[in-house]
Amino acid sequence: MTHPWKEELNKLLLQGASYADVRYTPREDSAALVMRNGNLLAFSAGSERGFGVRVLYQGAWGFAASSDLGSITATFARALDNAKSTARRLSRPIRLADKQVHTGRFTSPCLVDPAQVPYDEQVAFLRRVDTALQQTGVEQRMIFLRTQSRLTEYYDTQGAQIVKEIREIFPYLGIQGRDGDGETQSRRYSPPRLGPTRGWEIMQADFFEEQAARMVRELNETLAAPKCPSDVRSVILMPDIMYLQVHETIGHPLELDRILGYELSYAGGSFVRLSDFGALRYGTDKLTVRADATMENSPGSFGYDDDGVEAQNNLLIKDGILVGAITSRQMVTEANDKMGREYFKGSGGTARASSFRRTPLERMTNISVDPGTDGTLEDIIAKTEKGIVLSGDKSWSIGSNREQFHFANHYGYLVEDGQKKGVVRSCAYSGETLPFYNSLAMVGDERTWQVEFVPNCGKGMPSQTMQLGHGVPVCRFDNVKVGE
Ligand SMILES: [Zn+2]
Repeated sequence: MTHPWKEELNKLLLQGASYADVRYTPREDSAALVMRNGNLLAFSAGSERGFGVRVLYQGAWGFAASSDLGSITATFARALDNAKSTARRLSRPIRLADKQVHTGRFTSPCLVDPAQVPYDEQVAFLRRVDTALQQTGVEQRMIFLRTQSRLTEYYDTQGAQIVKEIREIFPYLGIQGRDGDGETQSRRYSPPRLGPTRGWEIMQADFFEEQAARMVRELNETLAAPKCPSDVRSVILMPDIMYLQVHETIGHPLELDRILGYELSYAGGSFVRLSDFGALRYGTDKLTVRADATMENSPGSFGYDDDGVEAQNNLLIKDGILVGAITSRQMVTEANDKMGREYFKGSGGTARASSFRRTPLERMTNISVDPGTDGTLEDIIAKTEKGIVLSGDKSWSIGSNREQFHFANHYGYLVEDGQKKGVVRSCAYSGETLPFYNSLAMVGDERTWQVEFVPNCGKGMPSQTMQLGHGVPVCRFDNVKVGE
């Protein structure tokens, strides 16, 4: 079946629109399995299709979406009507930065489509991992498995034609136990990038059983451990907490729409000001951060964004200095107008929508810290006088402008005079974003660097959940407040 997308887009131009695009999803399959203590607690599966049209008319956006392919003409007309109503109330006309027009295709790397794996096979897998988690000290066991498969076609009035086929799989294991004070301790595991693909082939039972055994061992060490001291020391962050530190205090504050105030009513603002670009010392010269949507195999790699802009690898922080933001076609023109100069040369290709029913927003791609030259975890420990190695994202709270933070961890052990010391429980650390990154003292090399996945980054009103990645090394920060 052919759809009249181009004809409908042309009609919008003839009616006075300056730009329009349409995203058509012929099929999206998603499923989630939840197992608690060996019982299948929830199972959901859904399939949908539809399209969303975005129109720019006299500087105002209009949007409309539908699942009814019988209503294409009416939906395009509704999008234009919406733009016309908005145009009457507009204070600042929207302009889109120039872009290269692409005809292309992107397919995420996947050998076995999770949607094609029978559910009894998936449940049998979860049972096997659950059995490995069912050990002394473990009072609660949770396993989640979420899969998604989406095909999207994109067309715009500039002539772009893009097809994207993206499959995702997000497994997650969690266990809990109670320590001597009756407090709950937990350990979780969401696998980082396990290889060049991310289909059902990553679900290797032996590997997950090994991870389960490690989680059980670390939980039991934590249950028997003394409390984390409350003092000031070096913190050595493992990738499974460093990714969240970067996500909350570099990724979110550098979203240009947030800097311009668009997220204030929902997810907060940013301490970063437009005048900071090219000038602000964000961290020590060991800190280099990039938004890399070209990384092989990560949910933050997508070929082309939902403005039809090709995926890019852009620096955000270079040797500690803030040089870039997470940008889209619309926001760079607004920011440049406000700055009175052309600081942002064009879109960074980060506009993504969570479904055909939503409009694209600036979303993190893969916000990654470059590996450093300070060797392995062991090398870093050996050079640390008084520190703590921290792992796991137990809980977190962040200032509304991302200027300060508090993260609690699942697992930690002390370091004294270059030696590993005992495990401690109820670990946490806190700080202020800029002083914290300006205390970055050591950055592990490629051997410590891994890509952690985020399946559930929330943003926007109505809310959109997005998937992305963070490539991060082991990092040491000095003079950090630790304890509960
Ligand atoms: Zn987020």
